[in-house]
Amino acid sequence: MTARLNPAAFRHPLDGRHRPMFIGGKWVDALSSRTFETRNPATGEVIATVPRAGKEDVDLAVAAARKAFDGPWSRFNPHERQKLLLRIADLFERHWEEICVSDTTDMGLPIARARGNANRVLGMLRYYAGMATAIHGQTVDNSLAGDIVSFTRKEPVGVVGAIIPWNAPTAASVWKIGPALATGCTVVLKPSEEAPLTPLLLAELMAEAGVPDGVVNIVTGTGSEAGAPLAEHPGVDKIVFTGSTATGQSIVRASAGNLKRVSLELGGKSPVIVCADADIERAVPVAAMSVFANSGQICIAGSRLFVARSIHDAFVERLAAYANGLRIGNGIDPETEIGPLISSRQLERVEGYLEAGQREGARLVAGGRRLGEGALAAGNFVAPTVFSGVTDAMTIAREEIFGPVISAMPFDTLDEVVTRANDTPYGLAAGVFTRDLATAHQLAKRLRAGSVWVNTYHAIDPAVPFGGYKMSGYGREGGAEHLEEYLSTKGVFIRID
Ligand code: NAD
Repeated sequence: MTARLNPAAFRHPLDGRHRPMFIGGKWVDALSSRTFETRNPATGEVIATVPRAGKEDVDLAVAAARKAFDGPWSRFNPHERQKLLLRIADLFERHWEEICVSDTTDMGLPIARARGNANRVLGMLRYYAGMATAIHGQTVDNSLAGDIVSFTRKEPVGVVGAIIPWNAPTAASVWKIGPALATGCTVVLKPSEEAPLTPLLLAELMAEAGVPDGVVNIVTGTGSEAGAPLAEHPGVDKIVFTGSTATGQSIVRASAGNLKRVSLELGGKSPVIVCADADIERAVPVAAMSVFANSGQICIAGSRLFVARSIHDAFVERLAAYANGLRIGNGIDPETEIGPLISSRQLERVEGYLEAGQREGARLVAGGRRLGEGALAAGNFVAPTVFSGVTDAMTIAREEIFGPVISAMPFDTLDEVVTRANDTPYGLAAGVFTRDLATAHQLAKRLRAGSVWVNTYHAIDPAVPFGGYKMSGYGREGGAEHLEEYLSTKGVFIRID
C-alpha cells in the first residue's frame, strides 16, 4: 500500500496507548512500572507510552538472552537460521508500510524516503540469510608437527548488547540483529528513548516469523538508566553501538569490567569535494541531499562542502536555489522532502549552530531559521541552510551539527583540499565529484574515511563494509567483516599418531 496519507486526519495505530517492551518472548513493563512518552516530532503529539527500563530490567533481558543462547537457539543449524532470516525479510516486506509509518511518526523521516529504503533494509536481511551458511573455519597444515591436525572453528560470540540512535531505527535494528541471527548470537537491543517504537514492531514481526523466545529482546529506556547498565553488564559478551562519539567513549570505558568486545559506528563531519570538471547538474542535488536528507540527522552528512574556486560561486547559488525549493512538512505526506528534527532540544542545538555561523562571519545564503508558521508550528522544523564564506576554523566547519546545514568553502588545489578534508577528528565518509578518473582514484585513496563516494553519495550495499576511521569508530557493518564482529575463532589441535 502506498496510498496518499492525509497528515491532518492521520492517527498512529497506537493512538497514545501503552506499548510494553519485549523480554524473553513476553511483552512486559518495567519492574518499577515507570514509563515515558514518545512524541511525533512533526506535531508534538504523544504517540505512545513505553516502559522506562532500569538496571533490573536489563538484568532480566540479559538472562533471557543467555538462556536462549545456551538452550534451544544453540541447536538451530545454519540452514535453519537462514530460513528464519528469509521468513523475517518476507514478513517485513509484507508489513513494510506499517514499518514506514512507524519510523515517520516516531522520528520524522519523510514517508517517501522510508518507503524507498525497502530494498536496502530487506536486502540486508537476505544478505545475512545467505551468509548464515557461509560461516566456516579453516584447516591449517600444522607447521611444527606432522602428527597433529589443526583447524579453526567460528563460533558465535554470545549475548550481544545493541544500542542504537534515533535517526534510522529500522536500518540500525536490522544491521545489529541480522548478523546476530546469522551467526547464532542472541541480542538485547536498546532503542533510543527518542524513537523506541519501530524496534518493538520489528520484534513483534520477528516473533511471528518464529524467532525463539529470548533470542531478540528489546529494552526501552534512557541512555543512563538502560543503556549504561547494558554496556557494563558482565553477562554481555559484545556491544554493538551506533550513536555519538561521546557516548561511544563512555561505552568503551563501561566495557572494561568484563573486557567485552565493542564495535562503534559514531559521528562524522564528512567532506564533499566538487572539482572544477564535475557534472554540476548531477552534483548539486546529490551534495544537497547528502546533508538535507533526514533533515541533516545522518551520521554521513556531507556537511563540509569544498568547491573548486572557479565554479564556487555558481555552485553555491544553485545549491541555495535547490535548498529553497525543498518541500518541508509532516513526513506522513508523501510529497514531503524534509521532515522535522527529532526534538525541541535538537532544534535548539541546531539553532545554536545557525547563530554561531553568523556570529563567526559566515554568509547565510539559504535558510538559517526555524520554521514555525501554520502547520509547522507544533513541530521541530528548521529550513535547509547553506552558509558560504566558511573557514576551516569555524565552529560550523568543525563540529557535527546533525541538522540541515551545509558549510561551503572554496579550494584551489587537490593537495590543499585533501589536507583540509582530512583535518578533522572524524573519518566516517567523504564525497567526490569529478569527471576525471585519475582524480577519482587519487582522492578515493587519500581521503581518510571509511566510505568514499564518487559522483554519488549515500550508496550502501550489504556486501560492502561500512564504518569509521579515527573518532568515527571501529568495526564494520556489512560484508563478511561484519559477521566476524559477531564471531570468535577457536583453534583445535588433534594428535593423530
Ligand atoms: P547518542 O549517543 O546520544 O545515543 C545513542 C544511543 O545511546 C541511544 O540509545 C542512547 O539512549 C544511548 N546512550 C546514551 N548514553 C549512553 C550511555 N552512557 N551508555 C549507554 N548508552 C547510552 O546519539 P543520538 O543523539 O541518539 O544519535 C546521534 C549520533 O549518532 C550522531 O553523533 C550520529 O553521527 C551518530 N550516528 C552514527 C551512525 C554511524 O553509523 N556511524 C549512524 C547514525 C547515527
